[in-house]
Amino acid sequence: MFIKRLPDFEHHAPASLSEALGLLSKYGEKAAVYAGGTDLLVSMKKREKTPEHLIDLKKIGEMKGIHPDGNKGIRIGALTTLGELERSVLVREKLAILWDAVTLMASPQVRSLGTLGGNLCSAVPSADTAPPLIALGASVKMVGPGGEREVLLETFFRGPKESVLEKDNLMKEIFIPQLADFTSGKYIKLMRREALDLALVGVAAFLTMDSKGKICKAARIALGAVAPTPIRAFQAEEVLINQEITEARAAEAGKAASVVCRPISDIRSSLAYRCSMVEVLTKRAIMEAHRRIH
Ligand SMILES: Cc1cc2nc3c(=O)[nH]c(=O)nc-3n(C[C@H](O)[C@H](O)[C@H](O)COP(=O)(O)OP(=O)(O)OC[C@H]3O[C@@H](n4cnc5c(N)ncnc54)[C@H](O)[C@@H]3O)c2cc1C
Repeated sequence: MFIKRLPDFEHHAPASLSEALGLLSKYGEKAAVYAGGTDLLVSMKKREKTPEHLIDLKKIGEMKGIHPDGNKGIRIGALTTLGELERSVLVREKLAILWDAVTLMASPQVRSLGTLGGNLCSAVPSADTAPPLIALGASVKMVGPGGEREVLLETFFRGPKESVLEKDNLMKEIFIPQLADFTSGKYIKLMRREALDLALVGVAAFLTMDSKGKICKAARIALGAVAPTPIRAFQAEEVLINQEITEARAAEAGKAASVVCRPISDIRSSLAYRCSMVEVLTKRAIMEAHRRIH
């Protein structure tokens, strides 16, 4: 498709969250916020979106950074870039499932601009950070004229490119609750090529084992790109809970996951292929997550 030049717009660069919210209220439907711009500016070039006022969030310090919050968990500012997550030792060591996703996204150039908040707010079914964060039990904090509100990420998405984020609100941060002992996870992304590609299927499996590493005490499995929103595969989780993790059990969970997915057939892949790959990759992600705990 022929990509045009950007349409005309007025640029605003607020230095605080309250200033940004003020601009959003002032310009209403005529405004759009952006962080890295790697999604929004492409939509503007395609004329899918033509805001008259662009509100650049990049100068807002209170929406940046990766902050361990005592023994409560980890807070990640919505403006934290994918590159910062990739380079973070804390993310690589404690949130390996999220690190898996970030390192498989886009290119180093796009990762240096694109943000975690932008990936979630775009709300596309294939957003790579959504399944691992859902599997981690993450919540997102939104701020607007009415104050702050926090929702579990798994309830944030409403449909393709739709979420519960109000038009005059901003996503401020993502919160990941403290992880129990003997936990780990794995995110696996199926792409047509090895880099710079969107997920045909994304599977995140996160397990909590007993202290002997034998019995699975808790499991969270989330799927991307196989339904109108990222989804949890509850039936697959139930197959694992209070059971030993074996190849056979993981395969059974994979089958259960393939039943809950509702992919579309499109130019990139057929429905049937996506469902079969959910089965295969769920099994693989469970076994990899289990291996990582030891
Ligand atoms: C070449 C290329 C490859 C890509 N590969 C991948 C990939 O492999 N996987 C993948 O998941 N994505 C991919 N993307 C999409 C994109 O890079 C990511 O979704 C990125 O994380 C978006 O972040 P951003 O800060 O650039 O978002 P922006 O473009 O700045 O914003 C995206 C949307 O979110 C809104 N928004 C942004 N931040 C906030 C906030 N804090 N509060 C409220 N609304 C907000 C904006 O208004 C806009 O609607 C790719 C994009 C390109 C161009």
